[in-house]
Amino acid sequence: MNKNKFIILDKIKRYCPICEKFHVVELVEFETLSLIKGQKIMHKDIMYFCNNQNEVFETVNMCDRNLVNVTEIYIKYKNKGTR
Ligand SMILES: [Zn+2]
Repeated sequence: MNKNKFIILDKIKRYCPICEKFHVVELVEFETLSLIKGQKIMHKDIMYFCNNQNEVFETVNMCDRNLVNVTEIYIKYKNKGTR
């Protein structure tokens, strides 16, 4: 993961599934590129970052939210294209 792109929103002590331990993880926001129906979409994802393993992880809620977010951007993009 390229940490330079991260915006740290918060630091929370919680269970980390990567380490399988309870420790402080960073709530981070970063821009990422997704491919949706052949269309490249730049969007922001919010995930937890584990400093111990240098890896991100997300909860089911976060995953849902990120998915809704990228879908909205995709719809906006599509609407723009047809006008
Ligand atoms: Zn961890």
